[in-house]
Amino acid sequence: MKERTLTIIKPECVSQKHIGDIIQRIEKAGFEILGIRMVHLSPEEAKQFYLVHKERPFYGDLVNYMSSGKVVVVVLEKENCVEAFRKFIGSTNPEEAEPGTIRKDFGTNIQNNCVHASDSPENARTEISFFFSQRDLILNQ
Ligand code: ADP
Ligand code: MG
Repeated sequence: MKERTLTIIKPECVSQKHIGDIIQRIEKAGFEILGIRMVHLSPEEAKQFYLVHKERPFYGDLVNYMSSGKVVVVVLEKENCVEAFRKFIGSTNPEEAEPGTIRKDFGTNIQNNCVHASDSPENARTEISFFFSQRDLILNQ
């Protein structure tokens, strides 16, 4: 069954001009782009988006990082999309990410790890609605 996920190209990849490379890799891997937008998150928005991590020691740094510059938010669709995209991007820590994954190729460290990706279909729906309305996505669901 077709499923959706949300990815965010993180500030470092945007400032290093890797948007095109990353989008090309995503498209070539068979993920369909349903919505795409550049935003500069406020610290409050980043805090809200990452609220599930509020007890983690890296929460403050993560919020600062994700609000430090422009990001590109993208809604993707594919069969088994959430799991397939997590596999495609590689492990959270780029040093441990599998060869050929975008976190391996474009990530710098465990924080600046190229992209965000939803971790479950339920969280994907919440995260997609954080940035996009149903109208934005054109296709209904
Ligand atoms: P993932 O992005 O792979 O789902 P998590 O949900 O565990 O990983 O963490 C969310 C984000 O927080 C990571 O993508 C990364 O930017 C940051 N992060 C995770 N673990 C650490 C850590 N140990 N130190 C610093 N930042 C971290
Ligand atoms: Mg996560």
